[in-house]
Amino acid sequence: MDAYSFQLSGGLCQRAMIAIALACQPALLIADEPTTALDVTTQARILDLLLELKEDLAMSILFITHDLGVVAEVADEVAVMYLGKVVEYGPVSRIFHQPSHPYTRALLRSIPTFGLDRRHRLQAIPGLVPHPSRRPVGCSYHPRCDAAIAGFCEQNVPATTRLADDASVQCHLYDPAVDDAGRPDPRMATR
Ligand code: SF4
Repeated sequence: MDAYSFQLSGGLCQRAMIAIALACQPALLIADEPTTALDVTTQARILDLLLELKEDLAMSILFITHDLGVVAEVADEVAVMYLGKVVEYGPVSRIFHQPSHPYTRALLRSIPTFGLDRRHRLQAIPGLVPHPSRRPVGCSYHPRCDAAIAGFCEQNVPATTRLADDASVQCHLYDPAVDDAGRPDPRMATR
């Protein structure tokens, strides 16, 4: 109680922060990258603590992270975001085993795998995330997308398409208004 924050380890700081956040027994805890920069052992302890508290306090957790391993461990439902928009949403098993959006698929391909040949190159997503003030027109992901429909995705913002009762995607590839050959339906107005 008497220590300054700089006297605590990273793991202790995280625990203190969680204690502060839970002091009022919230119904929803928003945890934004709560395990970033922690070693994997401390990260595992923090995750266990959060999941235990979730059950004990009957609260929900909105967990924000770039770590897909953490997502697989803690999430029930996943919202994949790109440039501030939810591009795919669904149960965690669907996101990992049946990903739909090209960005989700690329993210999963870029997870390093143990045991690969040293010469095997890591699969990265080409390009960089654009600055929010220079958001590409059409689909924001089109400059980096390996499945983009030339001449269409860079002009039309994809609508949200429902894939199941509990899953949706924002991509022209799943839009019934774009035909099977990947050509836009001529009846479709430019969004
Ligand atoms: S709408 Fe087009 S550019 Fe955007 S993710 Fe889908 S295929 Fe790729």
